[in-house]
Amino acid sequence: MSLKNQARSILLRNPKPGKISRGALITYLQAAVTPASRFSTRSEKKLSLVGYRHAMKFFRERGEGGKQVFTSLFAPIELVYALDLLPFPLEAMSGAAASFDIADRLLQKTDEEWHSADICSFHRTFIGISRFGLLPSPRFLLATSHCCDGTMKSFSEVAGYFSKPLFFIHTPQRSDRGGVGYLADQIRTCAEDAASLTNKRFSMQKLETAFEYSNRARRALVEIEELRKNHPPLIWGSDGFGFVLAWATFLGSRGGAGVFERYMNELKRKKEKAYGKPAKKRVLWLHLKPYFSNTIIDWMEKELGAVIVFEDINSVRWEDLDIGRPWESLARKLLSHPWVGPIGNRLKNIKRIIEEYRIDGVINFTHWGCRQSNAAERLIRDAVSESGIPLLTIDGDLVDSRNYSEGQFKTRIEAFMELMEGC
Ligand code: SF4
Repeated sequence: MSLKNQARSILLRNPKPGKISRGALITYLQAAVTPASRFSTRSEKKLSLVGYRHAMKFFRERGEGGKQVFTSLFAPIELVYALDLLPFPLEAMSGAAASFDIADRLLQKTDEEWHSADICSFHRTFIGISRFGLLPSPRFLLATSHCCDGTMKSFSEVAGYFSKPLFFIHTPQRSDRGGVGYLADQIRTCAEDAASLTNKRFSMQKLETAFEYSNRARRALVEIEELRKNHPPLIWGSDGFGFVLAWATFLGSRGGAGVFERYMNELKRKKEKAYGKPAKKRVLWLHLKPYFSNTIIDWMEKELGAVIVFEDINSVRWEDLDIGRPWESLARKLLSHPWVGPIGNRLKNIKRIIEEYRIDGVINFTHWGCRQSNAAERLIRDAVSESGIPLLTIDGDLVDSRNYSEGQFKTRIEAFMELMEGC
């Protein structure tokens, strides 16, 4: 039995809330970094190892004085590192559950309760993970309202299971002075309240260190974005999907700064050595990839030659964090993501990427239950058509494999490839 299957069977033998054994957990996490896993770069493997160590630390901490903090994808985790605590984005937990093919089972359980299938499966899965007792109890939860409206409700529910406080930051639609001030005040209050909850004074010195690591990671990520414009592509798009989950976990930590700098240096070396073969077509992917077992992205990139050269969710558009104006600069960072605010921000970013990355076609994966991805489909279609390239919209689920049909996906992508070739 493969390590992944062993891990899966151990986890599924534990269907009731209660503590999962450490041995089971170690097997589960090791499966993510086994040699059997496929890494296209050494940095990709390193990134997985850093994630593995982080997860081990996260799961090993036990008891009331533990260091775990459940965070949402775009929360200002530099605050968590400044408090010497460990953040873990719950959405990433759902992605991990899907990659181990246990998400369906968790979703089936949440479906049997009151959770409607209309709710995003990332949210329902981490609710299921919490209900199954697979997570250690956190000190607190930290979430923001961007980029999705469901976060408040799902994080409140998880906070309720653990009877732990939720610090919730409401991200405004406006990124003008008023919007920045409104957000900066909430971030400052949140830092002070979280510090008092952990019986500490918030240390500006530790925040400065977290900012330095976060800035180093940011600069490396910006350089990686630049390197991904290269022709031929220096990495597979399937690797790029991991970046947003990694920056949602590591920004503000020394390990995060190191791993992104290493990634950047490896891509620079590849560029110098004129690594790789040209893609037949360069694709922009909107949203994330399906995380459960499937071959769709590998097949599309390696067999059809349609390589994903960028994903809009990975856009790093903020400036260096400034310890002289800490709350304001964290607010600006949060507001800089193109998914925040009016849809025009996202459309402008999509058009920028199409031009700068010489994109031949756009694939928009509209995830069920996600207003972020499916409500704007028509507007995205119009914006892409103004750029004169084709768009393929795929309706599906990134976590729940129960309605997934690989054959149908492949047929649609093959037809799209022909369309790109005809342009
Ligand atoms: S997929 Fe959409 S609804 Fe789900 S967590 Fe992401 S942004 Fe929110």
